[in-house]
Amino acid sequence: MAQNQDCLFCRIVRNEIDAKIVHEDEDLVAFRDISPQAPTHILIVPRQHIATLNDLTPDHQDLIGKMFLAAKDLAAQEGIEQSGYRCVFNCQRGAGQSVFHIHLHLLGGRALNWPPG
Ligand code: 5GP
Ligand code: ZN
Repeated sequence: MAQNQDCLFCRIVRNEIDAKIVHEDEDLVAFRDISPQAPTHILIVPRQHIATLNDLTPDHQDLIGKMFLAAKDLAAQEGIEQSGYRCVFNCQRGAGQSVFHIHLHLLGGRALNWPPG
């Protein structure tokens, strides 16, 4: 599976850096954000290194679907499925992407304003 030696999230996937992992399966790892922006702030990350959403191909269709299904299950696990939650991919620096290994943010547990900043 494609990995990047120096990528922070590849290193978390390889257990080289500690993270509060809340879900793992053959395709995904999900862990708590180190700087949470809401009471629940989980990052859902594919084991495979994909730098940005711009690098997706049709081969990734099932993987992206799995990421959203994991988000839904984790929202239920966190007890925020009724109060509400937001799932966000930031793509490129102008949209706030700072780690170039795609990740789905799951945010909830407080009121979330719209539009986002
Ligand atoms: P982005 O800004 O790329 O959309 O999201 C990257 C997220 O990764 C940020 O919310 C940031 O707080 C989080 N993050 C950065 N470094 C670490 C780390 O070492 N561990 C964990 N758990 N989260 C991190
Ligand atoms: Zn990576």
